[in-house]
Amino acid sequence: MGEAQSALFPNYARYPFTFVKGDGSRLWDENGKEYLDLMCGLAVTNLGHAPKQVTERLKQQVDTLWHTSNLFHIPDQEKLAQLLVDNSCADAVFFCNSGAEANEAAIKLARRYYQKVIGQPERYEIITFHMSFHGRTLATLTATGQDKVKEGFAPLPEGFVYAPFNDAEGTEKLISDKTCAIMLEMVQGEGGVNPADPAFVKRIAELCKQHGLLLIIDEIQTGMGRTGKLFAYEHYGIEPDVFTLAKGLGNGIPIGAMLGKEKLREAFSAGAHGSTFGGNYLSTAAGIATLETMLAEKLPQRAAELGEYIVSELSRKLEGNPLVQHVRGLGMLIGIQLSGPSADLIAAIHEQGVLVVSAGPNVIRLAPSLLISREELDRGLETICAVLAKHAAAAV
Ligand SMILES: *Cc1c(COP(=O)(O)O)cnc(C)c1O
Repeated sequence: MGEAQSALFPNYARYPFTFVKGDGSRLWDENGKEYLDLMCGLAVTNLGHAPKQVTERLKQQVDTLWHTSNLFHIPDQEKLAQLLVDNSCADAVFFCNSGAEANEAAIKLARRYYQKVIGQPERYEIITFHMSFHGRTLATLTATGQDKVKEGFAPLPEGFVYAPFNDAEGTEKLISDKTCAIMLEMVQGEGGVNPADPAFVKRIAELCKQHGLLLIIDEIQTGMGRTGKLFAYEHYGIEPDVFTLAKGLGNGIPIGAMLGKEKLREAFSAGAHGSTFGGNYLSTAAGIATLETMLAEKLPQRAAELGEYIVSELSRKLEGNPLVQHVRGLGMLIGIQLSGPSADLIAAIHEQGVLVVSAGPNVIRLAPSLLISREELDRGLETICAVLAKHAAAAV
C-alpha cells in the first residue's frame, strides 16, 4: 500500500516486508517466504518470536485479569520489581510502557531528588552525550545528542548539555553548580553501536561521586542480557544510581522500567509520578516470564559467548573487504562499520532473507535472539558476508 492511501501518519520509512508469523529466529511473510531474524525488532525479542516460556504465562494471564490500574496492588508488579532488584544494584522500581517513558521518569526523579530531598532546586541540568539516543518525548529527545530528532519541535525543555562521548575531560568541563546528573548508554545503540570505554565510564562514575551527581545509565537497548551480562553496566564495575529498561524486558509486550537506589525512594512519594497502564497484569506477566527464562537458561552468558563468536567470525570473513572498516560490539549487540552508506547493502541482505538493521548511516547492526541456534547464526553470517563480498567485487 502506498503512503498516499494509508490511514497512518507517514512517520516511518518502512522496509518492504509484511510478516504474518514468527517462531524463534524465523519470520514468515504473507507469501510464505521465510526470513532469518538477526535484529529482533530492534533488540526487543531477545528470546525470539513467540517463545513458549512467555506465551504460556501470557495465555494464562489473558484468561484471568488484564488491568485494574495502579490504584490497587498488583502482585506481579511487586514480583517483577523484586526479581529486578534481586538481580541488579537497584533497590526500587517504577514501571511504565516504553523506553522514552522510563527515561522521562529518570529525568523527573533526578530533578525532584535535588529539589525535594536535597533542597537544591538550582541543580537541574543533566549532562548527556553526542550521538546518544534517549527517546522521542520532548524531554527525552532533548536529552538525545543528535540534532536530527529535534528538528521542528522547538521550544525544547531546558536543562540538558551535551558532552563528547568517551571523553571524560570534555565531560568534566561541563559540570557546574547547576548539574544534577550524568546520563549515558554503555553502548550507544541508535548512535552506531559505539561501546563506552572502560576508563571513561570509571572516570564518569568517579566524577559523579566527587560532585554529588546522579549517574543514570540508559539500558533500554543494552539491558536484559543483550550485551553478555544481564545489564551492561556490570561489564564496567560501576553501580548507577538509576538505570532504565524497556526493549527486551517484556520480549515484545510493551513495558518499561526505571530502577533506582534506596536514597532516591522518597523523591517519588505518592502522587509524584504515575502511569495508567504501567506495570499492569499482562506486561508484568511477560516481564517475569522473560526474566525468569533468561536467568534459568543463563542467557546473558550465552550472549557473551555467541557475541564473541559473531565478532570473530565476521572479522575473519570480512577481512580485506574494502566496504568494511571493522566489526565491534558487546555481547550480541554488534555493528559492522562500513566505509560508506549501509542502506543498499542492508536491502541486499534482506533480499537474501536475512533481517539486519542500520545504526546511523554507515553501520549494519545485528541484534540476534539470545536463543538463536548455531546453525541459524552461521547461515545468517554466511549470507551477510557473501552479500558484502559480492558488492565489493561489483564496486571495483
Ligand atoms: C529504543 C531506545 C529508547 C526509546 O525507547 P522507546 O520504547 O522507543 O520509547 C531510549 N533509549 C535507548 C538507548 C533506546 O535504544
